[in-house]
Amino acid sequence: TAQRRAAEAPALPAFADGGARRMLIGADWVEAASGRRFEARNPATGTLLATLPEGDAEDVDRAVAAARAALDGSWSKAKPDERQAALLRLADLVDTNYDELAWLDTLDMGGPISRTRLGRKRMVGLLRFYAGQATALTGETIENSVPGAVLTFTAREPVGVVGAIIPWNAPLGMSVLKVGPALATGCAIVLKPAEDASLSPLRFAELVLEAGVPPGVVNVVTGFGRTAGAAIAAHPGIDKVAFTGSHVTGQEIVRLSAANLKRLSLELGGKSANIVFADADLDAAVPGAAMAAFANSGQVCSAGTRLFVERSIYDDVVARVAAFGAALKVGDGADPQTQLGPLISARQLERVASYLDIGAAEGAHAVSGGARLTDGAYAKGFYVPPTVFSGVEDRMRIAQEEIFGPVLCVIPFDGEAEVIARANASMFGLGAGVWTRDVGRALRVARAMKAGSVWANCYQLMDPAVSFGGYRMSGYGRESGARHLDEYLSTKSVWINAG
Ligand code: NAD
Repeated sequence: TAQRRAAEAPALPAFADGGARRMLIGADWVEAASGRRFEARNPATGTLLATLPEGDAEDVDRAVAAARAALDGSWSKAKPDERQAALLRLADLVDTNYDELAWLDTLDMGGPISRTRLGRKRMVGLLRFYAGQATALTGETIENSVPGAVLTFTAREPVGVVGAIIPWNAPLGMSVLKVGPALATGCAIVLKPAEDASLSPLRFAELVLEAGVPPGVVNVVTGFGRTAGAAIAAHPGIDKVAFTGSHVTGQEIVRLSAANLKRLSLELGGKSANIVFADADLDAAVPGAAMAAFANSGQVCSAGTRLFVERSIYDDVVARVAAFGAALKVGDGADPQTQLGPLISARQLERVASYLDIGAAEGAHAVSGGARLTDGAYAKGFYVPPTVFSGVEDRMRIAQEEIFGPVLCVIPFDGEAEVIARANASMFGLGAGVWTRDVGRALRVARAMKAGSVWANCYQLMDPAVSFGGYRMSGYGRESGARHLDEYLSTKSVWINAG
């Protein structure tokens, strides 16, 4: 097997060879104005992957100027079919270069290649979906009641310069979800990747230029949140911010963006409930519930981390989910056999490990996992094994706060109305799951959940045509789906007195 694995492992992509990368402003790959750089390291091994410009407010200024110039120049005249063609070329380039992009995410943020390589269909599909949307933008003609021959219609116009701030848990996917709608609507964009995962966004930006998108339409400023990110949120020349990240940062962005009342869409965190009724097909529900929480080592915004299980099957499900988790292969994501990779950073490891301690102190019982992995090769990275807590009560911090690690809280319940109320007793509302053979119950629960996506007898399914987003403190605005472009458009009402 060692030989086979070595044969399967590709050469390190040039983009992650430890060299100095630059960021994209207008047509140029540039250094930060300050000249400062920071490091990108592999969270599985600590290996240096690249050094990156540490952009800050001055670089954001430059990028906004480049975006504005592009918007005022040829890009404002690009017809829908030209924007569509650019998106289709970009989709093809992402397809052609997908293996490299998947490897960059694996090396940069630790997601196993067995998982990142499955994203091709979604990435290419999203770009083609936005391409289709580019030629499907319409306004309305409205019958009004004012006297005389007065015509009213609406025009849909690009909102302008978009600032996009994204997290590290899906760097390529988040870049596609921000750049795709910007190109479809004719906006220009300044994208700030997370400081922990900038490589695939930079490589994606190269492909954007290769696809023939005019320089300045897409800019990438690498750097930290409190400097580059905050400068985007506050910038008077930015008309809209599309943010994905934690609710705490989301709140800060709301405050900073108030300076010019810019439009906002916020895709934030969650503590999503997943409900297993006693009549469920447990052969599907057990792996479904386990992977709802453990996939990407729990670093998924809509992870189903509160597992409510009907009391009559509680002990059985706890044992089976714990066994499923314990059997998952945790390791370096570059190994094709690996199912769960490391956490992104030492900071995130500390955070998740602290919740393991909090859970124990609150009286929950770790049936599997429960402590970070430090033996052998694990010592080089940031590893936490799949952890299943039983004996969890709703009030506990581990049942209410987003941990963003492979930690599943299993909680017993007795009836439908009761579990709906308890599942909804969360400040978040991103995802929810229900497992039952009773279609009526699945429908009732789905309608009752205060969450932006509800999955019945499945979890985490996604499609470019289906919207995704939060209720409550999981944010506002929707991504993907027919309404995503609304977030990037302003509607103008036009009155023509034809009398
Ligand atoms: P984070 O909020 O710490 O960082 C996200 C981005 O915001 C990064 O680019 C960061 O540099 C930037 N940032 C940090 N402080 C800032 C500030 N003061 N001003 C402006 N920008 C700032 O989140 P994270 O730890 O990178 O990602 C994990 C979080 O993202 C989790 O809460 C997760 O649930 C959420 N998330 C949500 C979705 C969704 O679609 N709803 C998807 C993925 C991740």
